[in-house]
Amino acid sequence: MKMKKMDLILVLTVIVLALGGFLLYSFLGSKDAGRVVVEVDGEVYGEYELYENQEIFINDTNVLIIENGEANMYEANCPDQICVEHVSVSKNGETIVCLPNKVVVTIKEAATGDLDAVVN
Ligand SMILES: [Zn+2]
Repeated sequence: MKMKKMDLILVLTVIVLALGGFLLYSFLGSKDAGRVVVEVDGEVYGEYELYENQEIFINDTNVLIIENGEANMYEANCPDQICVEHVSVSKNGETIVCLPNKVVVTIKEAATGDLDAVVN
């Protein structure tokens, strides 16, 4: 009887710890996920969630792909192709610049509910 009770406590402890770890993980995960701000010629073209996999067509000149929390310039019609060759960006403040098309992709902090309301 005594052993069983100890076992039950142990199992419950493990479950609580696992649940807590999961919650902490999701909290930190959502905090890390940022926004992708696309600017064309100095003006904001659009803002996109980094955690949402999507394809963004920028003025028929550039194609930006957001996948697994990273933004990557997939295609561009610029002659230098520097933006396409640029590594994926995912951290706050990282940018991909396409100079010929005046496209700037910037990673920014995760949006709050208020910012979402403004964008929508
Ligand atoms: Zn380019």
